[in-house]
Amino acid sequence: MNKFIPNYYKEFECIAKLCPDSCCQGWDVVVDENSENYYNSLKGDFADKIKEVTVTDEDGDRIFTLTDKRCPFWNKDKLCDIYINLGEEHLCDTCRNFPRITMDYECFTEYTLSLACPKAAELILGEDFIFPLSNYKIKNTEYHPYLMRLLLSARNRSKDIITERGIPFKKRLKNLLGFNVAIQDQVFNKKEEHFKGDDLSFIFDIHEGLDFINPEYAEIIKKAEGSTISSEYDDVFTRLAVYYIYRYYLNAVETKNVLSTIKRIFCAYIITGSIAASETEPDLIRIIQNYSKEVEHSYENAETLELLFESDERFSAFNLAGFI
Ligand code: SF4
Repeated sequence: MNKFIPNYYKEFECIAKLCPDSCCQGWDVVVDENSENYYNSLKGDFADKIKEVTVTDEDGDRIFTLTDKRCPFWNKDKLCDIYINLGEEHLCDTCRNFPRITMDYECFTEYTLSLACPKAAELILGEDFIFPLSNYKIKNTEYHPYLMRLLLSARNRSKDIITERGIPFKKRLKNLLGFNVAIQDQVFNKKEEHFKGDDLSFIFDIHEGLDFINPEYAEIIKKAEGSTISSEYDDVFTRLAVYYIYRYYLNAVETKNVLSTIKRIFCAYIITGSIAASETEPDLIRIIQNYSKEVEHSYENAETLELLFESDERFSAFNLAGFI
């Protein structure tokens, strides 16, 4: 069996106009070439509107420009005019696929959903996820099969460490950092700095400086700084950590960096846990979904963090572990 499809993936169905934070809000939609060619072949007012709003962005992608931060085809009933006028089969690839994500590792494929979608976040964080057995046949790859086997095994061990439910989540996260410091050193010969800072305020400062869709998000993070994260959320954070391990860990076959996945978990835990602690009636799943939309699923913000994980000594695993 060379593919793995989690249960939540099969259960997903878009809730369209009932969605509390539609993917048609705040994001440019990148239009693939085939879809644009099809739209260009059409005649009439609707076809003219599609042509009018399709422009080239600064990265050279063809996109639908947003109107008041909304997709121009997202109508007042919160439904999609392209779906209504042309049918589901003529949605562009971006809209047809979201929130489905395919992780292609050459000789095996794994599937997941994006936490940036509220319905997907409910499914992923609402119940425990059955982790893949990882008994894939690994051959004919550009990377070394031995490295992938090693990473699959380290990924399983990471999942076991973070799901040892008799232990508080913070302690498990610390153990997870420790295990992956050893993997990083032994497999990739990269040592973590023994840096010791004063506190975790730098994580809040760095997040506040990111580029957000919602201009109030920086203020929400600022307000949350210094809040104490309750252990009542340990189950949800365990599922969040398992999701990140599944979603990102094997990227190390290219990046040669397993610790960046664990540092992503650390940041998501500190920021979303603190936001939840600062609110009177927090909805942690929506808080995590928002963080995913603003940070995890933002190419620029995720890349900014990844670069800092490598270059900023305050993100040293030893420093992070000292604060939990
Ligand atoms: S965010 Fe998810 S549930 Fe909401 S409209 Fe998009 S795909 Fe549907």
